[in-house]
Amino acid sequence: MLKFCDRVLEKFPRVSLAHLPTPLEHLPNLSKLLGGPQIWVKRDDCTGLASGGNKTRKLEFSMAAALAEGADTIVTVGAVQSNHVRQTAAAACKLGLACEVLLERRVREPSEPYANSGNILLDRIFGAHLREYPADTDLVAAMDEVATEIRAAGGRPYLIPVGASNVIGALGYVSCASELLEQAHASGFRIDHLVTATGSAGTQAGLIVGLRALQSATPLLGIGVSSPQLAQEEKVYALAMATAEYIGRPGIVARKDIIANCNYVGSGYGVPTEAMNEAVLLLARSEGLLLDPVYSGKALAGLIDLVRKGEFDHASNIVFLHTGGSAALFAYVDQLRT
Ligand SMILES: *Cc1c(COP(=O)(O)O)cnc(C)c1O
Repeated sequence: MLKFCDRVLEKFPRVSLAHLPTPLEHLPNLSKLLGGPQIWVKRDDCTGLASGGNKTRKLEFSMAAALAEGADTIVTVGAVQSNHVRQTAAAACKLGLACEVLLERRVREPSEPYANSGNILLDRIFGAHLREYPADTDLVAAMDEVATEIRAAGGRPYLIPVGASNVIGALGYVSCASELLEQAHASGFRIDHLVTATGSAGTQAGLIVGLRALQSATPLLGIGVSSPQLAQEEKVYALAMATAEYIGRPGIVARKDIIANCNYVGSGYGVPTEAMNEAVLLLARSEGLLLDPVYSGKALAGLIDLVRKGEFDHASNIVFLHTGGSAALFAYVDQLRT
C-alpha cells in the first residue's frame, strides 16, 4: 500500500534537505504522568536543517520547483520569529540561491530578544536579506513588488508563500504520512489519533491527503495557533482539496476529515499562555525534549488538556507530530517562566 506514495510523489521534483525518516519515539514518562493513552512523538523537530522543523519537508519540494524554474532568488514571508523563514534561508544557502525575506511584525511590543535572537539571529547568520513590515500589511502584494524589483535588476525570483503552505509544499506532508504509517506498523501499533499544531495549514492538509490516499482512516487533529476554528478548518480544507487534486486523487478528503481545535491560542499568535509554559516544562522535565512557544508548545498544551479531560480512550495510541521550532525559545527568554 505504501508504494502508492512513492509512485505518486515521484513525478514531482524534490531536493534532499531533511534527515529522513525522522524518528518515531514512545514517551513513556509523559504517558505515565498523564495517566491516559500511550503518547508517541514523531520527531520532525529532527529534520536536521538549521535546527530542524516541519518546513524542511515542504522545502524539499518548494526549493526543487524553484530550481526547476531556473530561479536564482527565493522570496518568502513570515513573522519575525518564523521557523519557516529560518529553514528557507538555510536551504537557500545550501542550494546557492539568494534569499529575500519579508518579515511581518505580528507580535506587538516585541522584547529585545524577540526582535534579535532565536530565529531572526539565525536568518541573519544565513545572510538572508530581511525587510520588516507592520502587522496586517498585504504581504502577498508586497511579495509581488519585491519580485518585480528583483526582475528589474535582472534576477529570477521564486515566491514561496507563508509556511510554504501551497500544494507544492504540502507534498512534504503527504510523504510524511506514509513514512509515519510505515513506522507505526513496524513498531507494532495502530495510530488511533494523530495530533499536530496547525498554522498556515500545509502540514495538516498534506497529512490528511497522505493518510486518505493510503486508505488510512486515522483521525487527524490540528491544534490551532492563530485563527478561530472555522477559519482554520476552511483554510486546511481548501488546501487539502487542492493538494488531493494536484496529486491526481481529487475528492479523497471530506470536510469532516478536517478538525481543528483552536481553544489553546490564548490572546493571539505568538503570545505565550500559561498552559504553553506548563507544556514546555512538562515535556522538557519528563522526556528531555524541547518544544517551542508559538506552535508545538500550544499544541501539546491542547493535547495534555484533552487527555486530562478524558477525551481519549486509555487503550489508545496517540502520535504527536513535533513540528520543531525550539530556536524560538531564545526569543521568549523574558516571557517563559522556569
Ligand atoms: C510552521 C510551523 C507549524 C505549523 O505548520 P503549518 O504547516 O504552517 O500549519 C507548526 N510548528 C512549527 C514549529 C512551525 O514552525
